[in-house]
Amino acid sequence: MSKIVATLAIKGAQDLYKQASDFLTKAIKEKGPEQKIGFPETAFYLPMANALLGAKVEALKDALPILEHAKSLIKEPPSEKVWLPYLGDALDAGMAALFCEEIIVALRYLYGIEPEKDCVGFCTDSILRQLGIQLVDGRMTGVALILGAAPDNKKAVEIVRQLQEKNILIFVGSSTNGRSIIDQLLEENVQMGWDNYIVPYGRDTISAISVLNFAIRSALTFGGIKAGQAQKCLLYTKERVLAFGLALGAVDEIKVATGAGAINMGFPVIADTDIPEIKASGVTTYEALVKELDYGKIVSRCLEVRGVKVKVSNIPIPVAYAAAFEGERVRREQLYAEFGGKASLGFEFIRMGDSSKIEDGKVDLVGPDIDQLPEGMKSLPLGIYAEVSGRKMQKDFEPILERQLHRFLNYCMGVMHIGQRDMNWIRISKDAYAKGFRLKHLGVVIHAMLHQEFGAIVDKVQVTLYTKEDDVQNVLVQAKKAYDERDERLSGMTDENVDTFYSCELCQSFAPNHVCVVTPEKLGLCGAYSWLDAKAAYEISPTGGNKPITKGQCLDLNLGEWHPVNDYIYQHSNKTIERFCLYSILNCPSTSCGCFECIVAIIPEANGVMIVNRDYSGMTPLGMTFTALAGSVGGGAQTPGFLGVGKMYISSKKFISAEGGLKRVVWMPKELKEILAEKLKNRAKEVGDPDLLDKIADETSTTTSEGLLEFLQKVNHPALTMPSLL
Ligand code: SF4
Ligand code: ZN
Repeated sequence: MSKIVATLAIKGAQDLYKQASDFLTKAIKEKGPEQKIGFPETAFYLPMANALLGAKVEALKDALPILEHAKSLIKEPPSEKVWLPYLGDALDAGMAALFCEEIIVALRYLYGIEPEKDCVGFCTDSILRQLGIQLVDGRMTGVALILGAAPDNKKAVEIVRQLQEKNILIFVGSSTNGRSIIDQLLEENVQMGWDNYIVPYGRDTISAISVLNFAIRSALTFGGIKAGQAQKCLLYTKERVLAFGLALGAVDEIKVATGAGAINMGFPVIADTDIPEIKASGVTTYEALVKELDYGKIVSRCLEVRGVKVKVSNIPIPVAYAAAFEGERVRREQLYAEFGGKASLGFEFIRMGDSSKIEDGKVDLVGPDIDQLPEGMKSLPLGIYAEVSGRKMQKDFEPILERQLHRFLNYCMGVMHIGQRDMNWIRISKDAYAKGFRLKHLGVVIHAMLHQEFGAIVDKVQVTLYTKEDDVQNVLVQAKKAYDERDERLSGMTDENVDTFYSCELCQSFAPNHVCVVTPEKLGLCGAYSWLDAKAAYEISPTGGNKPITKGQCLDLNLGEWHPVNDYIYQHSNKTIERFCLYSILNCPSTSCGCFECIVAIIPEANGVMIVNRDYSGMTPLGMTFTALAGSVGGGAQTPGFLGVGKMYISSKKFISAEGGLKRVVWMPKELKEILAEKLKNRAKEVGDPDLLDKIADETSTTTSEGLLEFLQKVNHPALTMPSLL
């Protein structure tokens, strides 16, 4: 068995080596050996070579030794008589194939022919991090790499939909006999893109390297593994990245070689053709190469072979329901009806109610439904009002439950939800309407999902939907009062007046040494976990990712150092971190996993810090982009001088207060300033410098270190006269 595979893999690798070597020779001849190459927005050079060989390929000439190494991995194909008991030669050929493919695709970038039409090509570090958090919190259960084309368009759509329903991130591409699944899906108008979990990488097999590059970087980004630690990287992808390959249609030598590379990373390959199977190999968790000829079974076979566990939610509504539909948009052409936003008056409100008055599962619609829309109209007012009760329910949980509505409603295929509270906006598509989706189904979803995800605190849920203007107005008055009270409660809380902080260890599935310590004035660095959220999460599920840490003995109030926090961190960081100063960027700062919304970094010559947010792709005065900086901050390590933070922390009184707080900030992107403007202005007044915001430079004033110093002097920035940072 393995002999046939080895022969094909070796031939494929030889072919790829020749392609890479010819292309590189041509490029060196045309552009010179010093010509820079690389992929867009990554700190990991050519990631496969960087992760596995520790190589930093920056110029064409640096790719030569990588090719040499690849060549040394390609053996002669086994002769007829030799019996190959193990996969070694095939696996080596697979690795060689990946190194060659990576060089080929990087050269294509150099020549401007990658990414090809309709495809995303290389995934940037920033996208990798965004997806990381979804893999961590279980929204995404695994990663599929599809190569080839299904026998017909209908089967292609079916396979992809089934994977979507299981919340698998699906990379589609390559071709079989000149036909690519990408075009099959395009012809069927399937929405693709990161938000839809369907990502077209390219129409040839070589471009699949982009997906494997994405996987290998997660070992460096989240696993805290150093470049060059090949064994550790491959073990990490095997154990933590639940990916598999799905080969549709006949496989050629290049596909086999690429598949062998994937198997090396611990990713099994499933094919829909009659290929020789490779059972347990040790390289993968279960089988390495299997066939499944029945399309009805192929998706479940993939999950079984890779060991992907899926929580199935069966909700009685007429459209498909899964996290994979969360990012789906309902565009104007597809729009059947919409509510809230600019379209109409709308709100959503969850409140704790009197259990004796709540009838579990009751969904009432007061007013017309969407099949009674007035002639020519696409909109109605809509108030969504859910009452919940439960022995363990608390008023504090109301906003946490309410915030889930965004996810819960978006999971319906053909429903789009944006915003929250009285700034929500909901769209229902024509397809969903045609399948029988009506307003009451929003209530059905809310009831089912609150039970499913919050069963520990919620016993009863009753939902009322109002579509008459007067009713919506009336209930909105009560809702607004509750929104205000909640804001009050949150804003009044300080680190001093609680005796417990909470940990968040959700990211340990990726960054095994990372712990976020969440306090009322410092939220988790991903921005998704406030102290109230962590507290609620602990009460809802005491064995989950959030644990209380009693503050106890304070060692240094200025630095934000507590004895029990240090103990806790030491125990929960695999004994790698001994001290944690919550309010400092220089002294034993918090660790960063990779999910941070912003990075704070000191600029010694300015005696201050700059902040850069994930969405800003331009240059910073440190001479590095967000992506480049992120490469040195993540992985669960403590990096004095650098700090990953949640956006909201910037306006907190405890924002690097050990170093002087907001007055230290000398630069941040304009967009970030605008998002936080109101909060930062208030904070500036509190620190006695009401014009501080105008003294903070942004990319419209400068992106260089010299320009920054000039600017700071001109505006007389307070950092210049503060005690020296270093
Ligand atoms: Fe990860 Fe920290 Fe966010 Fe928790 S709070 S999910 S550990 S980044
Ligand atoms: Zn994280």
